[in-house]
Amino acid sequence: MSRRFSSEELHYLRNQVPIRQLIENHFDNPAGSEGRYRCPRCHRNDANINAPHNLLRCFDCAENFNPIEVTMHVLGLDFVESVNWLMKRYPMPMTGSSDIPASRQSSPPAKQKPAAPADRMTDLSTRLSSLEKKVFYIAAQLEKVLASLSE
Ligand SMILES: [Zn+2]
Repeated sequence: MSRRFSSEELHYLRNQVPIRQLIENHFDNPAGSEGRYRCPRCHRNDANINAPHNLLRCFDCAENFNPIEVTMHVLGLDFVESVNWLMKRYPMPMTGSSDIPASRQSSPPAKQKPAAPADRMTDLSTRLSSLEKKVFYIAAQLEKVLASLSE
């Protein structure tokens, strides 16, 4: 497979595929003590997640691994295979860099509210006022209980 990837796709995989989720969901590498992870290269539990930069950093190797590099090391794949592997599991949103899909950005269809018939409205307002009375009653009871408790 000699497919070339756009820089946008690679940028997305490096920065938008959450490295912690990737490692914990796919690579059987749960956080050890002190939240350390297994290094994909030296296999020592001395790697930390650098969330702001979306990198896994090994303190032994003194090296950072982005999601593509972690995938390459852990699964023993080459670069193209790793990108394909990640693309399958973390497909890029259709709009590219935007977080919100285009379909969501267009204004939603205005909801047509059916006009409530007059009798239904009066029915509702009666129920509302009776509910109101109940709430006031409960509040009064509560006040009595509270008063007796503070005595
Ligand atoms: Zn290491």
